[in-house]
Amino acid sequence: MERKIALVTGASRGIGRAIAQQLAGDGFFVVGSATSEAGAAGISAELGETGAGVELRMEDAASVAAAVEQINASWGAPAVLVNNAGLTRDNLLLRMQDDQWNEVVNANLTGAFRLCKPMLRSMMKARWGRIVNISSVVARMGNAGQTNYAASKSGLEGFTRALAQEVGSRSITVNTIAPGFVATDMTAALTEDQQTAMLAQVPLGRMGEVAEVAHLVAFLVGDNAGYITGETIHINGGLYMA
Ligand code: NAP
Repeated sequence: MERKIALVTGASRGIGRAIAQQLAGDGFFVVGSATSEAGAAGISAELGETGAGVELRMEDAASVAAAVEQINASWGAPAVLVNNAGLTRDNLLLRMQDDQWNEVVNANLTGAFRLCKPMLRSMMKARWGRIVNISSVVARMGNAGQTNYAASKSGLEGFTRALAQEVGSRSITVNTIAPGFVATDMTAALTEDQQTAMLAQVPLGRMGEVAEVAHLVAFLVGDNAGYITGETIHINGGLYMA
């Protein structure tokens, strides 16, 4: 059987890297993205025969378009898109600069729009597709210092629900996964005090592991999840119970 192609953004580190490895293990040909050529080369080296890396910056329309063209020409159209790449630029609203706001919303939310649009054309033709957007528990709970990030992630959840309604008739599902605190570079940036305070609110008493998020993605992109669409699935150790 021909291998389905999966595009995972932000696959050089953290959650995206684990998703790429998981999907490669499940038999997908995985194209993973990084923001630099060196990062893309690292993904290619790591995935070997099971995938390849591309350079892509979500906030840059030309970079996204070039990556889409490269992917279609080199490996074919992805049947699975995991919008995982994301970034934070924290500040209290009163101190937040326009560029901190714009960078986060452009990369986390507008970037997903930019990628979904061209990817959907081939999914519609194939009458099958899976889109998974990675949001955050902060979209529901809020978090002081993260108005830009929370707005971008809440936006992604609304985007998911609207798009799911547009493409459901073609057997394309669109879902969001909202992780809580997961051990990656993003959470390593928190101070020890912040990490302790945060863990005190998690009933399971620990951070999530990247592999746990990756397993959930694998389920959602598989054939057994074909009747789940427009949902936000929480994975947060009980920090937020929807
Ligand atoms: P991470 O360790 O900081 O890795 C971020 C990944 O995204 C890297 O591969 C990075 O590429 C890529 N990236 C960064 N900025 C980008 C941009 N402008 N355009 C394209 N790619 C970009 O992050 P993570 O913790 O694994 O988080 C992954 C996703 O989960 C994010 O959407 C994040 O918001 C979400 N999330 C994380 C947590 C958590 O606790 N870690 C919780 C909730 C939600 P380079 O290596 O080239 O920089």
